[in-house]
Amino acid sequence: MEKKQFQAESQRLLELMVNAIYSQKEVFLRELISNASDAIDKMYYKALTDDSISFNADEFYIKISRDEDNRTLTIADTGIGMTKEELETNLGTIAESGSLNFKNANEIEDGHDIIGQFGVGFYSAFMVAKKVTVETKAHGSNEAYRWVSDGVDGYTIEPAEKTETGTVLTIELKDNTEDEDYDNFLNEDTLRTIIKKYSDFIRYPIKLDVTVQQKKEDAAEGEEEMIDTIEEQTINNMIPIWKKDKNDLSEEDYHNFYTEKRYGFDTPLRYMHVNVEGTIRYDAILYVPGSVPFDFYSKEYEKGLELYSSGVLIMEKCPDLLPDYFSFIKGMVDSEDLSLNISREMLQHDRQLRAIAKNVKNKVRNELKSMLKNDRENYEKFFEQFGPQLKYGVYQDFGQNKDDLQDLLLFYSSKEEKLVTLAEYLERMPEDQPYIYYATGESVDRIAKLPQTERVADKGYEILFLTEQVDEFAIKMMMSYGEKEFRNVASGDLGLDDEEETEEDKEQAEENKELFAVMQEELGDKVKGVRTSKRLKSHPVCLTAEGEISIEMEKTLAMMPE
Ligand code: ADP
Ligand code: MG
Repeated sequence: MEKKQFQAESQRLLELMVNAIYSQKEVFLRELISNASDAIDKMYYKALTDDSISFNADEFYIKISRDEDNRTLTIADTGIGMTKEELETNLGTIAESGSLNFKNANEIEDGHDIIGQFGVGFYSAFMVAKKVTVETKAHGSNEAYRWVSDGVDGYTIEPAEKTETGTVLTIELKDNTEDEDYDNFLNEDTLRTIIKKYSDFIRYPIKLDVTVQQKKEDAAEGEEEMIDTIEEQTINNMIPIWKKDKNDLSEEDYHNFYTEKRYGFDTPLRYMHVNVEGTIRYDAILYVPGSVPFDFYSKEYEKGLELYSSGVLIMEKCPDLLPDYFSFIKGMVDSEDLSLNISREMLQHDRQLRAIAKNVKNKVRNELKSMLKNDRENYEKFFEQFGPQLKYGVYQDFGQNKDDLQDLLLFYSSKEEKLVTLAEYLERMPEDQPYIYYATGESVDRIAKLPQTERVADKGYEILFLTEQVDEFAIKMMMSYGEKEFRNVASGDLGLDDEEETEEDKEQAEENKELFAVMQEELGDKVKGVRTSKRLKSHPVCLTAEGEISIEMEKTLAMMPE
């Protein structure tokens, strides 16, 4: 039997990949199951075009078996198998993807179910294996072959005995080390968990022998004696909810998925089922949570969506899919255009992913907009929880997101005595009103008592009451809305027509010059100056800010760490 070397590049690539691409060893199973699924898909495609092949769904499955004594794990499929030549090219050359070639050769435009295309997944087996054996018989062939490799020294190919078409891959696990307990991959529960986690939506049954407790048949009367028996079970769900027709799904189905996936323990306020076709393709199920996740405002909170590639999980929390201001959104994205074995770093620069992220952002924004328009009550509930995040978004990145977010903001209105949008404010605004007025303070009640608000309110103008620190930062960043500038009622110039200094004012100032000088001296550094003001009606005195930074904002800035 002749021993062949992996191509030189392949050997180095193999080491590189095993250590670099995959952050967790357990993904080897995901890769091998995906290959098995691809092999079955190829039979399916063949059957579509070749009448002599019947595709009987029952005959196609993936079986995972374990042998604890010999420390081997087997992944068997009833797929298309490989010829000797295919074994050579597909498993002997890293970065050779038989699956990609198959898609091209068969002109499968969107060979959308076939997962493989990069030709590296198979080698992930060597993360856990000291030896891999592949026994395979190609569809339409009478010969079977055995491919064996220890990963480092190349591989051998020899004839084998195998009656059925398909592939059986056997992994001889590495010896346990201090850091890694490879035996864990022989554990029934571990295997079940890994299969569920990554391969739940593989279209073909993934079977595993599992131990079930059964009542012993010949147990004596009244006795409940249990014995362990082995039963073959299908572990995966097969059809993901996001591939199902929206019309066949109820709110309950979406809520169940939310709970099952542990996106949260609450009931989501809103869900979105997105199917996008065209230059970018993806499916997504997204949720607005019903309540703020307990760690949301802490450093521990990680934003992100689950990311799938053709139904196979590639990342549990992909942060690149959501802008920070939508970090509360939960859910998943599945795209055929992403590769399985892609590293986190590569993913960040992936053009497809960025296009998807942009699309997701727009979908979420539009959904919130429509919620604001059609379901105000729930929107206000939402805003109470996550509004600060949106305002933060306006303020972040130097106002780049302003256009995306400004119409989603709500502020308390002095006039309406409830939350209003900026558009609503503008609509009500008298023509001669020069600015959008706002006042800042700790609470609505306290702002209402501010002497500075009096004159603007007296004019009949509406004032937005900003009670949160981030409010004013957001307003400052926006500068204007619908061509109207924002103006703090406490600022020097309110743009009111009766503001010009009259002779009378000058006289008054002159008359009280000495008094003001004494007051100024008493107050020292605390004030810049003391002067007469027209903004006061029922209050004797008030503080105003010079320039554009309000007193509230100064307080906040003073509190910030340097
Ligand atoms: P990819 O799946 O990205 O193409 P892999 O390294 O995972 O790359 O696999 C390389 C190739 O080996 C596949 O494209 C396929 O042609 C072949 N192959 C792997 N596993 C099987 C299998 N179980 N049955 C048939 N062919 C397989
Ligand atoms: Mg693969």
